[in-house]
Amino acid sequence: MNILDTPADTTYIVCMPKRKEPERDDSKPFVPRALQAAIEHFADKDVAHGYAVAMRWPDGIRCTFCDSSDYTYISTRKIWKCKNKDCRKQFSFRIGTIFEDSPISMSKWFVAIWMLVNCKNGVSSYELHRAIGVTQKTAWFMLHRVRAAIKAKSFNKKLAGVVEADECFIGGLFKNMHERRKAKVRAESEVRNSSTARGAVGKTLVQAVLERDGEVRARIIKDTGLGQRLQFLLDNVEEGSQLMTDDGYNFAAFRENFVHDYVSHAHEYVRGNVHTNGVENFWSLLQRGLLGTYVNVEPFHLSAYVDEQCFRFNNRKATDGERFLRALAMVGTARLTYKDLTRVEQA
Ligand SMILES: [Zn+2]
Repeated sequence: MNILDTPADTTYIVCMPKRKEPERDDSKPFVPRALQAAIEHFADKDVAHGYAVAMRWPDGIRCTFCDSSDYTYISTRKIWKCKNKDCRKQFSFRIGTIFEDSPISMSKWFVAIWMLVNCKNGVSSYELHRAIGVTQKTAWFMLHRVRAAIKAKSFNKKLAGVVEADECFIGGLFKNMHERRKAKVRAESEVRNSSTARGAVGKTLVQAVLERDGEVRARIIKDTGLGQRLQFLLDNVEEGSQLMTDDGYNFAAFRENFVHDYVSHAHEYVRGNVHTNGVENFWSLLQRGLLGTYVNVEPFHLSAYVDEQCFRFNNRKATDGERFLRALAMVGTARLTYKDLTRVEQA
């Protein structure tokens, strides 16, 4: 209701028409608009469970062992029993997902997923630990599991049109490093000898390609030879695309496969449509997250953070709710179990 104040004797009262409640559509999942709404919605254990089931089996429940759609539901234990006479196993929605073997309630998992995909700079295990009331260590494991699940798996379409390519050093200052890590870095840089670029000691190199106004793909470079770098471009960018780089990333080999153009940052940042502003924007988001939210990221885990930032960046035009649903679609169907991940972490 708005009350219009006027200097005259009369006061006009304008009543807004009563807003009609939006009609509930049960065929579509409820999408929270903000973190608080997500926390409240998923606090109800049955709601969270129903959501998880819909996410796990978007086309209907099936036995996780034999794929049969003939089952009975044991509601008291929230599990199913397969009626296929050769199987007869019991299963829950958690089997075959990152939630398998996890005692954490789905109410908490959903909030963790929401925070990870919607906090621009990422979310630290400390923030999550305070937000959902699990230990910091548990929060750390949860975040890594979600990151692994939202990692883009198979890219079947190559980037095309105007594509920006660049590389960036990520890593903390050598003087701030832990003694043990310093020693390791020193040993490594001696092996790498004098070819190590200045300022690159102890840092990790990340390579990225971005379709202008489109998708980004990034990865950590271990082998700094040109062959591997070029292969990454060939694997991800359609041959004949217009490749934009800066002068520091200007290799003759690029011109054999792409229409290559570059800006020399010493003189200019933009020349017509030749620039790398898009990929620079990706770097600044990546670095902001790493500096602000994640302190002391070991190179081993950096790859997961790069993937996480790629997911947020590639879904940057979506609303928070849409980003959440896209993440759930990847998490729910990911054939990636708690065990698989633990094995990777220990490797
Ligand atoms: Zn079965």
